[in-house]
Amino acid sequence: MDLNFSPEDEAFRKEVRAFIAEAKEKLPRNLGAPEGATRTKEDYLAWHKLLYKKGWVAPIWPRQYGGPGWNVTQRYIFNEETAAADMPTTLPFGLSMVGPVIFNYGNDEQKQKYLPRILSGEDWWCQGYSEPGAGSDLANLRTRAVREGDHYIVNGQKTWTTLAQFADMIFCLVRTNPDVKPQEGITFLLIPMNTPGITVRPIIVLDGAQEVNDVFFDNVKVPVANRIGEENKGWTYAKFLLVNERSGIAGVARSKRATERLKEIAHKEMVDGKALIETDEFARKVAELEVDLAALEFTELRTLAQEARGQMAGPESSILKIRGTEIQQRITELTVEAIGYYAMPDQHNLGNNEYPVGPDYAVGEAGHYFNVRKTSIYGGSNEIQRNIIAKAVLGL
Ligand SMILES: Cc1cc2nc3c(=O)[nH]c(=O)nc-3n(C[C@H](O)[C@H](O)[C@H](O)COP(=O)(O)OP(=O)(O)OC[C@H]3O[C@@H](n4cnc5c(N)ncnc54)[C@H](O)[C@@H]3O)c2cc1C
Repeated sequence: MDLNFSPEDEAFRKEVRAFIAEAKEKLPRNLGAPEGATRTKEDYLAWHKLLYKKGWVAPIWPRQYGGPGWNVTQRYIFNEETAAADMPTTLPFGLSMVGPVIFNYGNDEQKQKYLPRILSGEDWWCQGYSEPGAGSDLANLRTRAVREGDHYIVNGQKTWTTLAQFADMIFCLVRTNPDVKPQEGITFLLIPMNTPGITVRPIIVLDGAQEVNDVFFDNVKVPVANRIGEENKGWTYAKFLLVNERSGIAGVARSKRATERLKEIAHKEMVDGKALIETDEFARKVAELEVDLAALEFTELRTLAQEARGQMAGPESSILKIRGTEIQQRITELTVEAIGYYAMPDQHNLGNNEYPVGPDYAVGEAGHYFNVRKTSIYGGSNEIQRNIIAKAVLGL
């Protein structure tokens, strides 16, 4: 899609491109292409640290807390360029989830203590929202925090906790009052992962990776000073975070890049002596995908324009989440379809003496296909997003 950019915007784009070109040389390996199951903590943090040094690691943070002070267009350009260059993504848990909660609702001491460590990558955060009985029905959470003097004693279990095995800190929703409406008895706590009584147990997912975990709390002592805002008001902060989480999942720029890659593959794959992209059936599927992606991009641009006028995204973020994740899944389905048999073997974790079968672009595709199934579930499942739209947007 062609948009009109000012000369300043174009100068900024050049600066981003130059930075990316330099950064590519410094990254340990190609970390941007379909996410592998074998990333280490250092891999995840390599790009984060380069961005931190440049002052660009937290695009959505206000300048006073260490953000780059970009306007909406600059953020759009940055996302476009990093996605087009296959740069990795930064992890959202500190930068887009708990960071904004801390600078919006935390006290000065919390801002000074945690924000610089999120920026530098010193503290890796994970998200302790979901529980075995509280996913879609999040307000039903049961992890209990009982106040004893200047501490809370926390007992319970969180689940699906992404990359908790690397985390230094977890932000947790806990129940502080079981006798009121569920939403009114929840508190938002910041808990160091090395506190005695915390156990992390891996959950191995379809692509073979340890991407998620169970986290158990057994009489974990958390200072009251680690509470965000007021006791029993955690639901307000939790919902604010979820809107940011959902907007971030849409991933339009990355889907544009993935569609380009799909088309490159479909040019190389042959059917009866003809490039796959030239067959009517496949060309139609790609065209439909591109139309839907362009429509999603317009929707995203509308929300960005709204943001530029000072209005924060609301329940519309659910629309972006649903369409964004559906499109991500369609791209992986079409990519697997294009590659055919060679997309079937799970080649994400080849040992030293093993060689991949098929073309280079087939490697990791099976794992990636499975991995992307998660996107319609996390951040609140797409069914739940439809309920939100029905109630909050359409007023049904
Ligand atoms: C890969 C991955 C990573 C995750 N990472 C994190 C994390 O880091 N931290 C964290 O806190 N959580 C995380 N989650 C959890 C995620 O937020 C939940 O899985 C999600 O909210 C759904 O909850 P559930 O799994 O309990 O499913 P359930 O709530 O049990 O839902 C099961 C099915 O029923 C449907 N359903 C439920 N209620 C309704 C309804 N009212 N109307 C229509 N349909 C309904 C759902 O859409 C779903 O299809 C992660 C999940 C995944 C898959």
